[in-house]
Amino acid sequence: MPGGKAAGERCVQLDAHARCLLFGNPQRPAVCASLQASPALCGSDRQDALRRIAWMERATTPELS
Ligand code: SF4
Repeated sequence: MPGGKAAGERCVQLDAHARCLLFGNPQRPAVCASLQASPALCGSDRQDALRRIAWMERATTPELS
């Protein structure tokens, strides 16, 4: 996304099933490729993962941190 993805903004690379259209593609941002699925990152289910991602986005938003 030009200028990056703002916290809370849906990535334009997500398909209708919330899957990354760039997965496995060298154009996928390095920060995305650096995140490895794990219980600590993803939690126990999809809702838990989305809560954790939202928390990480808030925690790393420059104007909030
Ligand atoms: S992994 Fe990165 S590029 Fe792919 S949908 Fe998520 S934020 Fe977008």
